[in-house]
Amino acid sequence: MKCRRCKAPAVIDVRRHNAAFCQDCFLHHCREQVRRSVEDHRMFSPQERVLVAVSGGKDSLALWDLLRTLGYQADGLYIGLGIGEYSDTSGTFARDYAAANGLTLHEVDLRGEFGFGVPEAAAATRRAPCGACGLSKRHLFNSAALEHGYDVLATGHNLDDEAAVLLGNVLRWETGYLGRQHPVLPAAPGFVRKVKPLIRLGEREMAAYCVLQGIDYIVEECPMAAGNRHLGLKEVLNSLEDRSPGTKAAFLFGFVERGHERFAEATESDRSALRPCTSCGAPTPAEICAFCSLRARATAPVAVRPSR
Ligand code: SF4
Ligand SMILES: [Zn+2]
Ligand SMILES: [Zn+2]
Repeated sequence: MKCRRCKAPAVIDVRRHNAAFCQDCFLHHCREQVRRSVEDHRMFSPQERVLVAVSGGKDSLALWDLLRTLGYQADGLYIGLGIGEYSDTSGTFARDYAAANGLTLHEVDLRGEFGFGVPEAAAATRRAPCGACGLSKRHLFNSAALEHGYDVLATGHNLDDEAAVLLGNVLRWETGYLGRQHPVLPAAPGFVRKVKPLIRLGEREMAAYCVLQGIDYIVEECPMAAGNRHLGLKEVLNSLEDRSPGTKAAFLFGFVERGHERFAEATESDRSALRPCTSCGAPTPAEICAFCSLRARATAPVAVRPSR
């Protein structure tokens, strides 16, 4: 196997591109994919301040590294989710990367600052933990980006993640979610702009990027991931991709280019009907936002039934 770009011995193949690369050319390939995503979708300019949502995993650390290498002003934000040892370890990877590269990492601790972690939230809602976790992360990422004056929030969702979310939304015709699923979600009153610069890179490419670039990341899966329905959707897409490389990219990019706008209008009118949460000020369709009501449920004293 030879590198497509320089003909040196290759270290990785990317079947979707029908190409193999040596180490230097693979790193160049990753940078090019991110550069293209940022420029094609006008995610941000070099003058804007980017806040990267950093989990300590491969995608978010690779994203932070790639943005810095491309010359963007990118700081990190780590949220401690209170998931026992997993959270302790993932926080260490995020802090170590920031310290080794002299970067600013903001931190929010869900339990320390709001009195609950994801396990308590899941128990209070009696739902799969990922729902409460995702809700908390979206709320805290947005409020931290606004509080610290960043122009844009970047998340490490990759091609595999986005294709799986899209498949889930299509299978249930979740038109509201389809309207919001785009590499760029523009800013609105109370909402910072949100972007996904890794949509042109797959999970395997992100792991390879970290290994070749010498970035240490948490390899273990979150122990609460078992109830995450996207894992099943990823398996389905991987088997389609095996039979026909390029399927995932065609599915996702076809939607972004030709499908998304058909669903976007409804989303914009949804957003214009919001008002400030009476507890925290975040935009919400109700009196109290979803995060504050989750917090109230997760921190409520457990009722003890009187014994007979
Ligand atoms: S797997 Fe679920 S619970 Fe774990 S970090 Fe991801 S969204 Fe949160
Ligand atoms: Zn090469
Ligand atoms: Zn609120």
